[in-house]
Amino acid sequence: MTQLQIHQFPCLSDNYGFLIHDSEHQVTATIDTPEVGAIEAALAEKGWTLTHILNTHHHFDHAGGNLELKEKTGCQIIGPRAEAARIPGIDTPVGDGDQVSFGGFTAKVFDVPGHTSGHIAYWFESENVAFVGDTLFALGCGRLFEGTAAQMWTSLQKLMALPDDTVVYCAHEYTQANAKFALSVEPGNDALVARSAEIDSLRSKGTPTVPTTIALEKATNPFLRPMSANLQETVGMVGKDLVDVFAETRRRKDNF
Ligand code: ZN
Ligand code: FE
Repeated sequence: MTQLQIHQFPCLSDNYGFLIHDSEHQVTATIDTPEVGAIEAALAEKGWTLTHILNTHHHFDHAGGNLELKEKTGCQIIGPRAEAARIPGIDTPVGDGDQVSFGGFTAKVFDVPGHTSGHIAYWFESENVAFVGDTLFALGCGRLFEGTAAQMWTSLQKLMALPDDTVVYCAHEYTQANAKFALSVEPGNDALVARSAEIDSLRSKGTPTVPTTIALEKATNPFLRPMSANLQETVGMVGKDLVDVFAETRRRKDNF
């Protein structure tokens, strides 16, 4: 059976671009369109022809290259229904529970609002991979530009419910800064302390810390850990509702 091929490459200052490719059906998608030049270079390097764009949300560093790439390749654009008016060139709007066919593969769509009001994630169950845009980061989560803490907490719980070994592709390399904040709110988490040291070592060599996994994030990401006694203590929210602990953690990160 063919495997979904995934190619990750840096874009702009701290974005990642992702190409996915089904060699049997000769289809290639870019997850978002952060930087046309970098995407074209990646396509040329792999010898792949762009057929699809899968957008996660409307921000410019995710959909800004849509029209140029569509014009050049005639590719089909799939994106969040709730942001269809803000996704340039969108052909196929999708939302929670929809299945997106890509060659021989299928992605399940999740609505994960919070960072933006219509943000979606794509889960390729058979491949154990999820593309989560700016919703979940390694040791972090997206800023709440258009949603509430309650919405984001619900969205993150959907991702936490994916299998532990799901490989998670997030759209930015923010991990080292996220680790500093994470340590400040959960200093007693040994797994986090160890991961933080590992991240420093990876980044000193310029190695990406993306992708991550659901298991690793559940063990170390403070935004998935409002139930942690140590975190609740540090942020002064012992015994409070998890959504309130999450909201306080997010607020602190905004001011960190
Ligand atoms: Zn964004
Ligand atoms: Fe972004």
